[in-house]
Amino acid sequence: MSRHYDYLSIGAGSGGIASANRAAMRGAKAAVIEAKKVGGTCVNVGCVPKKVMWYGAHIAEAIKYSNAYGFKLEQSGFDWATLVKNREAYIERIHGAYHRGFAGNNVEFIEGYARFVGPNEVEVNGERISADHITIAVGGRPTIPKVPGAEYGIDSDGFFALTKQPKKAVVVGAGYIAVEIAGVLNALGSDTHLLVRHDRPLRSFDRDIIDTLCDLVNRHGPTLHQYSEVKSVVKESNGLLTITTQSDEKITDVDCLIWAIGREPATDNIGLDKAGVETDDAGYIRTDPYQNTNVQGIYAVGDITGEAQLTPVAIKAGRLLAERLFNKDMPDAHMDYSLIPTIVFSHPPIGTLGLTEMEAVEQFGEEQVKVYKSGFAAMYNAITPYRELSNFKLVCVGDDEKVVGLHGIGEGMDEILQGFAVAIKMGATKADFDATVALHPTSAEEFVTLR
Ligand code: FAD
Ligand code: NDP
Repeated sequence: MSRHYDYLSIGAGSGGIASANRAAMRGAKAAVIEAKKVGGTCVNVGCVPKKVMWYGAHIAEAIKYSNAYGFKLEQSGFDWATLVKNREAYIERIHGAYHRGFAGNNVEFIEGYARFVGPNEVEVNGERISADHITIAVGGRPTIPKVPGAEYGIDSDGFFALTKQPKKAVVVGAGYIAVEIAGVLNALGSDTHLLVRHDRPLRSFDRDIIDTLCDLVNRHGPTLHQYSEVKSVVKESNGLLTITTQSDEKITDVDCLIWAIGREPATDNIGLDKAGVETDDAGYIRTDPYQNTNVQGIYAVGDITGEAQLTPVAIKAGRLLAERLFNKDMPDAHMDYSLIPTIVFSHPPIGTLGLTEMEAVEQFGEEQVKVYKSGFAAMYNAITPYRELSNFKLVCVGDDEKVVGLHGIGEGMDEILQGFAVAIKMGATKADFDATVALHPTSAEEFVTLR
């Protein structure tokens, strides 16, 4: 048996779903193949369950602040299993919505693991499926380090599978996932330790913002272990773990070790050689600006391309590819990878867009760069004993002070960034920010009143 489509996505994650739906909406006979669960990383073991856990942590923090607002509440009786059950039920509803979307758009959903058997042809469950256009959107998987005892740890997928709250957790890594998971566990009451190899997490972010994050972490947790690289992990007779670092620090009685040291591409087992698709040394499929691989009719979008590993990036690249292929009015459609806004769901959240101060100085020279900053206590917790410092920053260049970077850590930053991203994408200058009337009382207004 064999089938033929105009358009086929391998992987029903953010990029694959978006591109197949858009192709079908433009008249293509489209299908998407998925080996695990519809929705991919973001919906099942990424953005969605993470944000639900972050909201849970937010409620724990609100309970902590509530005394100062006159409530007599205590954080007690938190039930991890209830949160997980409700989270997973929500994810099930999202699965349903995706399937209804496929049905509405006439996209065929094929369950199974796809491998190329030739250019423009894959095999799934023993069946050959061909297409004029095939998009590889297979995403990535967490990296596990090669240290003795690494197998006693779990990764971010394992974190979302936890049915019981850890008592003492160690999170190893310094990126988004480490900061987010450690922050959630800490806020929900686990004794949480974050191990970073250098002095700080998120080293590619603006230093001022991460200085503030580190100050807050030092005050409220998780316990930050700087210059800590894991040497070995031992499972003791009581089932608990002892983690030893390169400097021989021992962290004992750990019931949950989470590796969050980065992700790697899932290209090693999909028969790319049979199709002739090339990868870089790390296994990412590098594409041209139009998502074309080196093989005509085969494209790649999302995490697998090694570009910014974010859901909206995968979605936008996938949709624009489908427009280019099937919408005669958009023959040049392609993704613009510049000025991508991003949020780290830390406590409070970090929002960032464009160049850090250091990058701007390197790129334009110190005399061309002007930085505006504001450190202030967000009103939300200003009346509580937990006055958290927010820290906002604009990086501007040239005589017209074009805004090339906007960075912030503070309450609400996750919702503040999007609108400013529009302005900066349109080329806003500091004068444009100043000419905008503030919204009061908000944290966001700091960005239009910086001196
Ligand atoms: P994926 O979503 O990974 O989808 C790939 C799909 O392909 C998977 O479902 C997989 O099962 C399937 N597949 C793989 N091989 C095959 C095969 N051979 N045949 C068939 N199917 C196959 N991004 C944000 O923007 N905001 C966030 O808050 C955020 N939080 C995150 C939190 C965590 C813990 C993680 C891990 C990631 C997070 N991300 C976040 C990143 C985001 O999830 C990814 O950038 C996004 O999912 C990438 O989409 P994709 O389509 O490239 O791949
Ligand atoms: P990241 O690439 O963001 O960070 C991993 C970091 O871990 C490295 O930068 C490195 O930092 C450190 N590291 C690497 N190897 C080791 C090691 N052997 N031991 C200890 N630390 C190590 O990866 P993540 O897994 O956190 O996330 C993957 C991607 O998923 C992110 O880059 C992001 O694009 C996406 N994501 C987005 C989210 C969001 O939008 N909110 C949330 C979660 C993920 P250093 O060199 O400083 O040690």
